[in-house]
Amino acid sequence: MSQPLVIDNLAFSKKNEALSGVLLLADCPRLQELLHQPSLKAESNAHEIVFDLKGTTNSLNQHFLSLSITAKLSANCQRCLSAMPLTIKLHFNYLISDVDDAALEALELDNVDDFDLLQANANMDLAALIEDEVIMALPIAPTHENACVELVTQSGEKPNPFAALKGLIKPQAGE
Ligand SMILES: [Zn+2]
Repeated sequence: MSQPLVIDNLAFSKKNEALSGVLLLADCPRLQELLHQPSLKAESNAHEIVFDLKGTTNSLNQHFLSLSITAKLSANCQRCLSAMPLTIKLHFNYLISDVDDAALEALELDNVDDFDLLQANANMDLAALIEDEVIMALPIAPTHENACVELVTQSGEKPNPFAALKGLIKPQAGE
């Protein structure tokens, strides 16, 4: 996806539009910097951010965007420093508001936990929004959940049970 992903967010929700697609990591340079680097090219197929956006309007004529993100990424494990797969699933409900930020702050909104506020924007950069949300959801210090790569490899190979004995067998005297 080389062209920017721009929508008129208020019109989008008023028309109950829907949009889904895939962002490549190459489209998200700020996110890319935070992830595992060396094998980025080799693993580029494994990196993708699938998104699903729906616009809705409720009976109070409030306009919402519902955004689901599934990001399959590769981060640096902070313990063994090798790549670790990371899947991040996110869901957001944005209430689109055409009042300015100051007015929004003055409003005391109930149930504010149920949605995030998003400024009405005729040229909203959807790719940047998705990138921001994924960056904010990244774990601060990702580590392999059970065992790091080296440990997994070692336990996967069955050690030769006689290897340990070798050092114990002393050559017979006189041979
Ligand atoms: Zn690790």
